[in-house]
Amino acid sequence: MIVQCCVCKKIRRGPEGSATWSLAAKEDLGPGVSHGYCPKCADKALAQIRNAQGKSVRIPK
Ligand SMILES: [Zn+2]
Repeated sequence: MIVQCCVCKKIRRGPEGSATWSLAAKEDLGPGVSHGYCPKCADKALAQIRNAQGKSVRIPK
């Protein structure tokens, strides 16, 4: 299963945990690509979500 970061378009190579992320040539991508976040973009996305929630949404505890 190929996972491509939906933000920076890098693809994951290697097993989970020790995977590396690098930009892919187009021909590397087949129909079985699933989209997710690379670790860097996941951090950014989480930070943005937390920011947005802190500004506009109050979550009851
Ligand atoms: Zn990314």
